[in-house]
Amino acid sequence: MNKPVELKLDIVPVWINGKAVLPAGRMGEVYNPATGQITKRVPYCNEAVIDQAVQAAAAAYPEWRDASILRRARVMQKFLQLMQAQQKDIARLITEEHGKTLPDAMGSVQRGIEVIEFACGIPQLLKGEYSENVGTAVDTHTLRQPVGVCVGITPFNFPAMVPLWMFPMAIACGNSFVLKPSEKVPSASIRMAQLLQEAGLPDGVFNVVHGDKVAVDALLHHPLVNAVSFVGSTPIAKYIYETCASNSKRVQALGGAKNHAVVLPDADLEFAADALIGAAYGSAGERCMAISAVVAVGDAADPLLALLQRKASAIKIGPGDRDGVEMGPLISAQHRDKVAAFIAQGKKEGAKLVLDGSTPPLQEGYFLGATLFDHVKPEMEIYKNEIFGPVLVVLRAATLEAAIAIVNANPYGNGTAIFTESGGAARRFENEVQVGMVGINVPIPVPVAFYSFGGWKNSLFGDLHVHGMEGVKFYTRTKAVTTRWPHQDTPAPGLHMPTLG
Ligand code: NAD
Repeated sequence: MNKPVELKLDIVPVWINGKAVLPAGRMGEVYNPATGQITKRVPYCNEAVIDQAVQAAAAAYPEWRDASILRRARVMQKFLQLMQAQQKDIARLITEEHGKTLPDAMGSVQRGIEVIEFACGIPQLLKGEYSENVGTAVDTHTLRQPVGVCVGITPFNFPAMVPLWMFPMAIACGNSFVLKPSEKVPSASIRMAQLLQEAGLPDGVFNVVHGDKVAVDALLHHPLVNAVSFVGSTPIAKYIYETCASNSKRVQALGGAKNHAVVLPDADLEFAADALIGAAYGSAGERCMAISAVVAVGDAADPLLALLQRKASAIKIGPGDRDGVEMGPLISAQHRDKVAAFIAQGKKEGAKLVLDGSTPPLQEGYFLGATLFDHVKPEMEIYKNEIFGPVLVVLRAATLEAAIAIVNANPYGNGTAIFTESGGAARRFENEVQVGMVGINVPIPVPVAFYSFGGWKNSLFGDLHVHGMEGVKFYTRTKAVTTRWPHQDTPAPGLHMPTLG
């Protein structure tokens, strides 16, 4: 494997108060995973830089909170146009830093852009409730007011889409925002900050900082931060949730996943196999909604395995910017080695290795081939862990009931899918499965922007999902106002507890 060689490097700045800034201090490296070479450097912010960003957001907040709702919507409309025009450039940045193929990166930016489209409707979304005569001549109405300085901490696998789940909603609701994207893929966030400024967003309302645990901890403990949205692995999500709770901050922390697809014998197996190949190996399995476990029910197992083996062997692997490539590299050498170690573990545990992708198919970069295991048991490490690579494990179950029991016993609950022609079976699955997002003959059931995205169990710590109406709720506080206008024929309130009859 080639050792990373330093080329002429750009430094990705932070973005504070409308300006690109290069803070002094620790730096990290950004790699092109298709070549294994360092392409950029990125500052790892210390507490002082985080404080500057939060102070900028806090200073910009009052004016933005009071900006008319139509002005906020119009900034989103302009940002939407700019993002549409820049979609390909941002997708190229993602392919360069993450490794996923260009069409896949384009699709992910599109899903993020759809959240901006939803945020453009903020005047309608923020309407409150009004009840006349809750008591005699007494009215009640509710307001949705912004929460203040909001923070987003995001993972490497969706450099634009996951931040876009958060900040368009937060900003449209009247909050200011500090984003800490993954230090592995920092450039798309800076590009989006520039476009927000071009769209007319006042300086300080959106800020971007970079770094690792030091930067994250400074955000979690900063007294001026009111709300934190996190997406990443389960151990860190739990840490974020607990730290925010003990610091009295509003928090939603989305974690990792082990997403199951249940395939019934009556399913169109050719269709199901095609769907599973895309869902398991797309983006080299580095999607939180990737299908990483299949539960094949009854007679579905043998023909499904044959189809999966044939189709997985035919996947074209290579650099994500090459035409015709279907699967790119993994994010880092360390992660590639971790995934390869899981493949070795699966063999040792006695699972049947149907397709072995552990030998890197290309000399340079962080590639692995597609791997397929059969006869996997729930107690095996390759089943219990989120591998987050191009490894699909197949379990076998005798009945739908047994398949649902397997899915429900798993500690994760992000997404799941069933493949069947039976409406009754699908309805039962939808009703009984303990998972936040369900697909019926849809392998990756990521809800569109006007619905909300989020899992259950170890895939989400917190109450509210992201974007859709749950996003509006997360980024606003409800205020209920009860009003009476005294006049001569209603008695003044006495000392007793008011009852508005
Ligand atoms: P990660 O948890 O390592 O990192 C996520 C963020 O947390 C990054 O910004 C990182 O800098 C920061 N971080 C890392 N270690 C930290 C620490 N010790 N203390 C404080 N902050 C820390 O996740 P990742 O590897 O970037 O992303 C992959 C993971 O994200 C997978 O588990 C995947 O399932 C999950 N994910 C979940 C969803 C979802 O919607 N549930 C979506 C995308 C990704």
